[in-house]
Amino acid sequence: MTNEIWGNVRDELCKSIGRNNFVTWIEPLEFAGLSSGVAKFVAPTSFIGDWVSRNFSEQIRRQFNLNGAEVSRLEFCTGAPRRKAPAPAPAAQAEAPSRAPEDRDLPGAPLDERFTFDSFVVGKPNALAHAAARRVGEGGPVTFNPLFLYGGVGLGKTHLMHAIAWELQARSPELRVLYLSAEQFMYRFIQALRDKQIMSFKEVFRSVDVLMVDDVQFIAGKESTQEEFFHTFNALVDQNRQIVISADRAPGEIKDLEERIKSRLQCGLVVDLHPTDYELRLGILQQKAETFKRQYGGLSLASGVLEFLAHRITTNVRVLEGALNRLFAFGSLVGREITLELAQECLSDILRASDRKVTIEEIQRKVSEHYNIRLSDMIGPKRVRTIARPRQIAMYLAKHLTERSLPEIGRRFGGRDHTTIMHGVRKVEELRAADPQLAEDLALLQRLLQA
Ligand code: ADP
Ligand code: MG
Repeated sequence: MTNEIWGNVRDELCKSIGRNNFVTWIEPLEFAGLSSGVAKFVAPTSFIGDWVSRNFSEQIRRQFNLNGAEVSRLEFCTGAPRRKAPAPAPAAQAEAPSRAPEDRDLPGAPLDERFTFDSFVVGKPNALAHAAARRVGEGGPVTFNPLFLYGGVGLGKTHLMHAIAWELQARSPELRVLYLSAEQFMYRFIQALRDKQIMSFKEVFRSVDVLMVDDVQFIAGKESTQEEFFHTFNALVDQNRQIVISADRAPGEIKDLEERIKSRLQCGLVVDLHPTDYELRLGILQQKAETFKRQYGGLSLASGVLEFLAHRITTNVRVLEGALNRLFAFGSLVGREITLELAQECLSDILRASDRKVTIEEIQRKVSEHYNIRLSDMIGPKRVRTIARPRQIAMYLAKHLTERSLPEIGRRFGGRDHTTIMHGVRKVEELRAADPQLAEDLALLQRLLQA
C-alpha cells in the first residue's frame, strides 16, 4: 500500500522536478517504509541523501500528504544500492513520445527514439555487430537468417535492434517490422492461449516481414513458449523473412534451450559484442557529453574527467551513461565547472561498485556450474580430465582476474603447490590458442564474472 503511494509520489515528482533531476536524485532512492509520520529512505550515498533532504524534502512530504499518507519528516540512511538496473523514469514516455512505427496491430514493444545508428558509437569491440546490423537495416534480400547478436549486459544489443527497426521503417514504411522481448513474446503467447486466440496469434506473428526478439535466453526452459517460438521462427525463415535475435550468450551456451532451436539459431550469422575497451568508452562518453552540453547549455567539463570515467567505469555502457547523466545534472545544480574532484564526490557509489574485485571463490563456483562438476571436486584431488580441465580453467581465471599470487591461488585450490598452478595456467593458455570452443568458454566465463 505505501509502496503504491511512493509510486504515485515518484510520478508526481518526476513531473514537478523534471526528468534529469528525477533520474539523478529520486530514482536512486529506495523507499524503506513509513511509520509514525516518518518516511524512510535508503540512499546509495550520504551525498545523495543530503542533497534530496536539502532540496526536495518539502515537495516529497507534500506529495505524500496529497496522496493521503501523513508524513511530517523524511529520514535518509545509506545502504548498498540495489544491484538491478534502475526502473525507467515514469515520465520518460511523456517527454519523449516514441514515434513507434505505425501500429497496424502488431503486438510489438515501442522503440526508443535515442537508439539509432547515428547515436551508436562504433569501436573495435562492436564493429562486426554494427556492420551486420547495418546490413540488415538496409533491407534488401535476406543474406543471413537469423542475425544473432549476443554479448553481456549494456553493450548495445537492444540499441542495435531498435536502430535496425528505425532504419527499416525509414527506408520502407510499408514493411511490417515487429520488435519485442522474448518475455513479451511469452506473455502474448500465454495470453493468446488463455483467450483461445492462438490462431490469430500465429497469424500475426507469421505475417510480419521482419521479426526481432530481444533477450531470447529468457525462454530457455519454458517449453511451450519455445515450441511456439520454434514454429514461428521456421515459418518466417521458410518465407525468407528476416529475423533478428539477441541473447546474453551464444546460442550453444544457452542452457535448457532445445537443441533444434540452438542449431537453427546458429544457421545464420552469429556475432558477439565484446566488452568495451577504453577507446570505445571514451568515444561514447564524448558523444553523450556533447548532447548533455547542448541540453544543459554552457556547462563546462574540466579536461580529464571523461578520461577518468572511461578508465574507471568498465562494467557497461548503461552505467557509464548514468554516471555522466548524474554528473551533468549535478553540475547544473551547483552551477560550476565539473571537475575531477566533483566527479569523484558525486559518483563515489558508482566508482566503488566498479572497483568490485572478482574473488577466487566466485571463479571456482562459476566454473563448476558451467562444467557441471561439484565445487568440492574443484579443490579436491581427483585427476580425471573432466574435473582436472575445469580446475585448470579456474586457475587460469584466478591468475588473470584477481591480483592473487600463485602460492595464494594454490592455497585456495586445496593447498596445491604454486608450480601446479603455473602448469595449469600455461596449459589453458596453450589450449586456448588451439581450441576455439575453449576460447569461447573462457570468454563467456570472464564475462559472467565481470558482469
Ligand atoms: P543491452 O541490450 O546489450 O543490454 P543496450 O542496448 O540497452 O544494452 O545499451 C545500454 C545503454 O548503452 C543504452 O542507453 C545504449 O544507448 C548505450 N550504448 C551501448 N552501446 C553503445 C554504443 N556503442 N554507442 C552509444 N551508446 C551505446
Ligand atoms: Mg537489452
